[in-house]
Amino acid sequence: AEQRFNDRNPKSFEYHQSAVESLPGGNTRSLLHTAPYPVVMNRGEGSKLFDLDGHVYQDFVGELTAAIYGHSHPRIKEAMMHVLDNVGLSLGATNVYEKKYAELLCARFNIPTVRFANSGTEANLHCVAAARRFTGRRKVVVFRGGYHGSVLSFAFGAAANNVDPQDWLVSQYNDIRALERVFEEHADIAAVLVEAMQGSGGGLAGSQEFLRAIRLFILDEVMTSRLHPAGLAATLDEAPDMKTFGKYLGGGMPFGAFGGRQDIMAVYDPRQSGSLAHSGTFQNNTLMLNAGYTGLKEIYTPAAADALNQRGEELRNKLLAVFAGTKFTVTGVGSLMCIHCTTTGVGADEIHCKDDYWPHDYADLKRLFWLEMLEAGYWIHQRGSIALMLTMEPAVIDDFVGQVKEFCIRHQRLV
Ligand code: PMP
Repeated sequence: AEQRFNDRNPKSFEYHQSAVESLPGGNTRSLLHTAPYPVVMNRGEGSKLFDLDGHVYQDFVGELTAAIYGHSHPRIKEAMMHVLDNVGLSLGATNVYEKKYAELLCARFNIPTVRFANSGTEANLHCVAAARRFTGRRKVVVFRGGYHGSVLSFAFGAAANNVDPQDWLVSQYNDIRALERVFEEHADIAAVLVEAMQGSGGGLAGSQEFLRAIRLFILDEVMTSRLHPAGLAATLDEAPDMKTFGKYLGGGMPFGAFGGRQDIMAVYDPRQSGSLAHSGTFQNNTLMLNAGYTGLKEIYTPAAADALNQRGEELRNKLLAVFAGTKFTVTGVGSLMCIHCTTTGVGADEIHCKDDYWPHDYADLKRLFWLEMLEAGYWIHQRGSIALMLTMEPAVIDDFVGQVKEFCIRHQRLV
């Protein structure tokens, strides 16, 4: 399979050879690097991707959950063209698109006020800054396997490239006792930053009991806001104090937003003396605001959200049936999921935190799966994650399940 990968992708190889000269490693997103070199895409259309070597893929990566509308959705294109033709990109001034989208986001995701940012990472950093200012405390509890942005990654515990590691207390996901211990040991805690389903951590849902135990609660909805018409927060017993958003809510443009309790958000009110600054150049750019607004208002309606998540549940159930009795399983919620390769017979319901699958992750078998899916024309992320897009045809999803089944039969002795 490795040899066939090389034989099939000479142009991607050639591109990579020259790209490493100006980009360390040959690309600018670590998560998209694959050994020995990444497949380089030429373009996307709907839910298909086309690479430099002429292959066509069904896109199950869905831009790591951000490409919910498919590539170049005509209505979003139109909304962007409207801005380009009539408004201008960055006006260096407050513009009318801010309030319009803020009102829609607040109503849809049940938050009193919101502010925009350029990425999910930035939204989380600003939200943490607000919590620190509001409480006058410094430390933030996060969880092993948590991912809140590239400088806020806690995949293996402490963040490797975190600028200020001593401010983060890393606890175990879905472990109430561990969380209680952190609070017993530290008085200086400003907030707990958590995903209701760890996305990058492997599609692991947080239990109601665990999330209920959290105080000073910042819910990172960057990935999960798509999992329910009003965000995954709507399914929790305990309402978060603050929420952060990103990904598809920019309609394909860079996007971040954070909001929640009015008394906390007031730290960003410039009419108050000593308010915190939040002034990124592009955070009110008209192209992002109108693309995001149009997508959420007209395309990812509550009904569309329900339908897409239903389709995801169906896919996961089909995959679970195919994987029964193998080393493979699949976790996730709604339209987001992650395929794991762990000890034979370990069901998805036995995986609650990264340590439940990671020590037994069969890297070689998982890589074989990824390579063969690629060869069959399915673009999934090498870590096994899948994010369904609205444009993905049900027949294509069923064909994918068929391919997975054939893989399991073909490699019966390995799986
Ligand atoms: N939080 C979560 C839960 C995420 O999944 C991501 C992105 N994968 C981020 C934050 C960071 O968002 P961005 O890449 O836009 O900075």
